[in-house]
Amino acid sequence: MNFNTNPSTQVAIVTGASRGIGAAIAKRLARDGFAVVVNYAGRAEEADLVVNAIASDGGRAIAVKADVSEPAAVRALFDDAVAAFGRVDVLVNNAGIMPPALPQLADTDDATFDRLFAVNVKGTFNTLREAARRVEAGGRIVNFSSSVIGLALPGYAVYAATKSAVETFTNIMAKELRGKRITVNAVAPGPTATALFLDGKTPETIERLAKAAPLERLGTPEDIANAVALLASPDGAWINGQTLRANGGLV
Ligand code: NDP
Repeated sequence: MNFNTNPSTQVAIVTGASRGIGAAIAKRLARDGFAVVVNYAGRAEEADLVVNAIASDGGRAIAVKADVSEPAAVRALFDDAVAAFGRVDVLVNNAGIMPPALPQLADTDDATFDRLFAVNVKGTFNTLREAARRVEAGGRIVNFSSSVIGLALPGYAVYAATKSAVETFTNIMAKELRGKRITVNAVAPGPTATALFLDGKTPETIERLAKAAPLERLGTPEDIANAVALLASPDGAWINGQTLRANGGLV
């Protein structure tokens, strides 16, 4: 299958794009002219809705199931992107998990620790390794951190630690890709109105966190997609090895 009628069309893989921030990024990059690979792990129907929304807006997209924590699945994800669209120019490493219950470190069980590191760290490692070999010269990689690293909120130790690893990958990868004209940056959202943030929180906690930033609201998935779109666009060409905190001024 090769849908790429114009070989100069740039191609973006967005991991975790069946809902939330990833879905908004996929739609935005499609509007910006990219052919988009909408990756997901479990929610096939929601991924198809994102693909259909892009198609009805005149864009091109496919949905590809792949658990980013599995190296073979990530290789197949890149294979499917190339089979469908001929190339990969942009990788957005948006897929990530955060448990709805956030116990302090002393009360965190092994399974929670292992799954957070498997998806957030190993998943990002798997896609970065593949991207280093397969993203076209001049391409862009955008990783996902979190502003909670700066906030250092109790309960977030393990989750924030996974995102610290992602920030470290980001500036070292930017240097390791010297000579390929590929930028590697991270976006670190603050509280953003998605299921990942809202699930398990009381209305009072949500309200308190929404008011914490000087702009006094939660971020929207589109706010974060705007930051990613900048980094993926020609205007982002000189930004490399950086983490951009998109959080309304929270930290
Ligand atoms: P959501 O839970 O709304 O969406 C997560 C997406 O990731 C889903 O599409 C899900 O797919 C996918 N996903 C989960 N696990 C895997 C996996 N193993 N392989 C592939 N895809 C997977 O999260 P958000 O949109 O809120 O978060 C997006 C990113 O932003 C994450 O990295 C998160 O850590 C980060 N972030 C979010 C903040 C927030 O306040 N929302 C704040 C700071 C950072 P499916 O459902 O199909 O399995």
